[in-house]
Amino acid sequence: MINTVLQLCTKRESIPQLSVEERIDNFQEVEFGYAEEEMRKEASRCLQCEDPPCVEACPVHLDIKKYVFEAREGRYRDGLETILERLPFPATVGRVCPHPCEKACVRHTHFDPIANRAIKRFLADQFMDAAWYPKIETKLEGKVAVVGSGPAGLTAAYYLAKMGYGVTIFESLPQTGGMMRVGIPSYRLPRKVLDNEIDRVKNLGVEIKTNTRVESLDTLFKDGYQAVFVATGAHQGIKMGVGEEEHPKVMECIDFLRDVALGKTVELGDRVAVIGGGNAAVDSARTALRLGSKEVTIFYRRTRAEMPASPPEVEEAIKEGVKIHILAAPVRIRSKDGQLTGIECIRMELGEPDVSGRRRPIPIKGSEFIMEVDNVIIAIGQAVDKTALPPELEYTSLGTIVVDPITLQTNIEGVFAGGDVVSGPSAVIAAIAVGKEAAISIDKHLGGEGVLPVDLSPKRQC
Ligand code: SF4
Repeated sequence: MINTVLQLCTKRESIPQLSVEERIDNFQEVEFGYAEEEMRKEASRCLQCEDPPCVEACPVHLDIKKYVFEAREGRYRDGLETILERLPFPATVGRVCPHPCEKACVRHTHFDPIANRAIKRFLADQFMDAAWYPKIETKLEGKVAVVGSGPAGLTAAYYLAKMGYGVTIFESLPQTGGMMRVGIPSYRLPRKVLDNEIDRVKNLGVEIKTNTRVESLDTLFKDGYQAVFVATGAHQGIKMGVGEEEHPKVMECIDFLRDVALGKTVELGDRVAVIGGGNAAVDSARTALRLGSKEVTIFYRRTRAEMPASPPEVEEAIKEGVKIHILAAPVRIRSKDGQLTGIECIRMELGEPDVSGRRRPIPIKGSEFIMEVDNVIIAIGQAVDKTALPPELEYTSLGTIVVDPITLQTNIEGVFAGGDVVSGPSAVIAAIAVGKEAAISIDKHLGGEGVLPVDLSPKRQC
């Protein structure tokens, strides 16, 4: 009893980070992750609940209780194997997951939830360079095409390859990873980590063709593919409708982050306005600072409490010098003689809750103000770029692909779709969960039983 009370009273181990001075002019990873002693102390805080709500809350139902126990006991390879049974990219998810499991943890009200994500990262990082899985010779007849190399596409490819199918991924960009590479800055997800995880998919025998856009589904079928999984994501920015959005100094965050990620030269002035309140807005602001901008301000039409961005990321942005101007929305982008001069905003107040459950922002008449800026980055959401997709598919009025909610099959026999291209923007872990469902449906479509392989990894070893 005394031990339980003492265990309940232990506070969460803090996760070491680079100081602001060390990180502000570069893209080094901000979080270090736990050292061994701190990780084991943190894992010891887990109550090993009989019916753990963390597992239920995880989109892929990781056996969190088990891997945390194995981590606590120093059985790191076992812990990693437990994770790999349900999650192919533990080092990535161990860094970028919004960790709904931690929100559900019973310790949420007792000195913070268990740092499941950081424990997962620790376990994955112990074996970063290991070839976890051997190459699997294709054993089955079926050939599957996956369109898009983001988390949904890579996950489907990973499981289908483990089942024995020949899988080819077609990626229109020059590099793989989808939003994990071109949407998440490297100070949150280092490229070496992502490359390692994608290499393990390639080691299973998956072929990845970059710089290859799929124009026609017919061509894929003619080339011998018997099933197609479309997972091209939502890579198009949304306009604000305030004019001047085509100005060269005004950017969509999705283009901005992608260009930086792909190593293109992006020139910003000293003063940058970022419009939006989600993770993409915060990532854009922190990236702008790292590119040398001096005054970076996020404009958000509600308050901090309603910002959809991860609160710790918002905290880090503020520590780094990003300003957040709440209750303000742009009404006009201003320019003179072709030069961007500023952004005109209006102050807002919050009214009654809207359909999202958040209080509706209402403009305050006559409260307009102008902020002089050199660049505007628009980060109010992303949509599906229909022009880059086969026209024969059926689309919703929002431009997402229509699928059967259970099988993920589209209006075309043998063509499945999932991830952001169906749901709109979502978290990496949600896309991974969908990629697993796609692998199940495609296997059934090709005559299999639709059972995901979990035991093709090397025998458990310490
Ligand atoms: Fe451990 Fe929290 Fe999960 Fe309970 S809910 S098993 S304390 S991580």
